[in-house]
Amino acid sequence: MTTPSETSTEHLLQSHQRAKVFVAIGVPILSLCGLLAVSNREWPLVALIVVSVALISCSHLALMRGSTRASSVWPALIAYSSLLIYLVAYSGTEHARALWFFSLPIVAVMMLPPRQGAIWAGIAIAMATGIMLLGGPDFGTSAYSPSFAIRFVITAILISVGMFWSEVALRRYQEETAAQKAATQAESARLKAEIARRIALEQDLRILASTDALTGLVNRRAFMERFAHELARSQRHGPAPTLLILDIDHFKKINDLHGHPSGDAVLAHLAQLLKASLRNLDIVGRIGGEEFAVVLVETNAAMAEPVIDRLLERIRETTVTLSDGQPLQFTASIGSTEILWGDTIDTAIQRADEALYTAKNTGRNRHCQR
Ligand code: GH3
Ligand code: MG
Ligand code: MG
Repeated sequence: MTTPSETSTEHLLQSHQRAKVFVAIGVPILSLCGLLAVSNREWPLVALIVVSVALISCSHLALMRGSTRASSVWPALIAYSSLLIYLVAYSGTEHARALWFFSLPIVAVMMLPPRQGAIWAGIAIAMATGIMLLGGPDFGTSAYSPSFAIRFVITAILISVGMFWSEVALRRYQEETAAQKAATQAESARLKAEIARRIALEQDLRILASTDALTGLVNRRAFMERFAHELARSQRHGPAPTLLILDIDHFKKINDLHGHPSGDAVLAHLAQLLKASLRNLDIVGRIGGEEFAVVLVETNAAMAEPVIDRLLERIRETTVTLSDGQPLQFTASIGSTEILWGDTIDTAIQRADEALYTAKNTGRNRHCQR
């Protein structure tokens, strides 16, 4: 039969608690017996008790200081066993003192690793049996009847086996519980990590679903969501925002002359320019191929006018460096409209689109307002 590991913290803690109980019960009893022995002038017994109490105290201290269990228990156990063997040999009237021997298997099995404790109890039982059967008045020791000796030995063996069995069962149970606890903790840690991973993934997906891959601006769907939100907010609390729709002029020509990747570079460049030119609270999105939309938050038409002029100026002045090193300039047209009471996304967009259409039809590279 295998016994579980003796070194786990739980077992050490348990042995500390047991040591405390044994010391709290044993030392006062031993001290009392010591006093009786002094009054009876039984000096060998006094010496054995003094040595036992001293070694038990030392073992206790060593255990409390974190010493490993078996090594610090052995000296006290040997002294205590000698004391009990002495009491078997000199058992007094009706062998009453010999009965203390039954405490040995309990202490040995509970304080040592169970198997070591059981072996030690067996050795002590064998010694006690030898003394009972072979000793006697001829040797100056107590005389035992064979029937008493047999009952004594059987009782000691039963206590030892019972203690050993219950200790092993307890260890097994503790090991299983610890393993289950560890498995539960590992599972819970795994679940927490999985939840964190999924939250991050969901966040990534949400960003991905609302972002235009080429420009990094919000895409059409996300722009409309934010615009709707701002529209509702402004209609509840004011002030009104202005909606802009911006379309690059003759963008098809850029593609045709310089290639599609150059067209992409222009789109990305313009997106950065828009971001850099507007406030963080403004909503900027790419709503179509070369079409961008902006909500200038809390900005009425009059306030939007200089902002839009400055924006167009910047677009005119900016230069995109194409992949072949060629500089490229472009222009854009903007249609804008201030959000009115009762507007929906659609009515606002329709007005801005109409303004854009006018800007395109009246020469491009300009701003029209509706
Ligand atoms: P206008 O001044 O009237 O707006 O003329 P335009 O050429 O800019 O407009 P049009 O609608 O004729 O052409 C838009 C072009 O934009 C056509 C399309 O191939 C191009 N386009 C749309 N999406 C992308 C894109 O993601 N990358 C590139 N490079 N081109 C795109
Ligand atoms: Mg267009
Ligand atoms: Mg265009």
